[in-house]
Amino acid sequence: MIQINENYLKLQASYLFAEIKNRTAAFQEAYPDRDVIKLGIGDVTRPLPQACIQAFHQAIDEMADDKTFRGYGPEQGYAFLREKIAANDFQARGADISPDEIFLSDGAKCDNGNIQEIFSKDIKIAIPDPVYPVYVDTNVMAGRTGTIKQGRYQGLIYLEGTQENGFIPELPPEKVDLIYLCYPNNPTGATISKSALKEWVDFARENKALILYDAAYESFIRNDDLPKSIYEIEGSQEVAIEFRSFSKTAGFTGIRCAYSVVPKSCIAFTGDGTEQSLHALWYRRHATKFNGVSYPVQRAAEAIYSPEGQLQTKVLIDYYLKNAALIRKEISALGFECIGGENSPYIWINGRSDSWKFFDLLLEKAAVICTPGAGFGKCGEGYIRISAFNNYENVERAMARIKEALA
Ligand code: PLP
Repeated sequence: MIQINENYLKLQASYLFAEIKNRTAAFQEAYPDRDVIKLGIGDVTRPLPQACIQAFHQAIDEMADDKTFRGYGPEQGYAFLREKIAANDFQARGADISPDEIFLSDGAKCDNGNIQEIFSKDIKIAIPDPVYPVYVDTNVMAGRTGTIKQGRYQGLIYLEGTQENGFIPELPPEKVDLIYLCYPNNPTGATISKSALKEWVDFARENKALILYDAAYESFIRNDDLPKSIYEIEGSQEVAIEFRSFSKTAGFTGIRCAYSVVPKSCIAFTGDGTEQSLHALWYRRHATKFNGVSYPVQRAAEAIYSPEGQLQTKVLIDYYLKNAALIRKEISALGFECIGGENSPYIWINGRSDSWKFFDLLLEKAAVICTPGAGFGKCGEGYIRISAFNNYENVERAMARIKEALA
């Protein structure tokens, strides 16, 4: 008898985006003439930078000629791209990361979800609340939790984000083995200072724990005092793995390219306390289950690091940051407390009411879609997330409508 992995039955149905879709569809059916503005999803809307397009085209032409055609590439990614990443994203900021510590992949979602495979089933895991759901669900699937009770999985340690702590959770009150952190944060838009991040690194070192640092929104950081990488923090290389993505940096959500960084000095332990290199384990996992990002995609990603690519991606992110600034300004002027929207594409708003009620209010009175915070965890109740991924004109219209509806 073929049996299933029953841990999958513990998963909550993906209620959030399905419910948003249902409520939006019902509204559009009831009011076919209303023009709905979507500020809910975290997907980019602007086209790829020209430098990436050109590199992409050129790489496709290479594939059309038997002298330049390429088949399987290295599983870890081509050296031409890993060298650019190491030099530009890390060494230029004083972080001593080498090209062979970088693993190219087809998404930070996959990397964040796959990494847990290299850890024991019995580890203690600390996860923020509110949270990007992938960290939780992949550990549920792997059997590291009990069932869900009142919105929380048994066995996980939840790190609570609140208005009081500015959605930067306190250190766990007990020993943990694996810690998920994400800055700039999805969904809250909160950013972390170097000194606050140092506390987490010190905690990990003291407790022989590991931090999984998701920096998918790093390119939105404009305040140079904020860390773009956890490796800007002294002592982090032994205790942190970082995830990056070109999805938001350069509009690659549909192209798919990201990378994980596993320093060679990063360690974990066997049951008897023997040190093991995580780089070796991740390399083994990656090379066994992944056959590399496509060559044209890696060439397109490489173009981000050319002088034109750097300029064009900055213009792209600036566009969304202008949207974010407008949203933050207008919502704050209406008397709502906001987090994020500076150094982040997300604005996290204290709606002072049930998240779904606030969602319905914005939909019915302003025909604007947001994301109810409760969908990201218990601590998200009472909040909504507004995303800056849209046209500036649409954001302006959405803000004017919200102003009229709520004033
Ligand atoms: N990490 C966070 C925090 C995200 O919000 C997202 C996408 O929304 C991802 C990772 C996924 O990135 P990718 O498109 O590279 O899979």
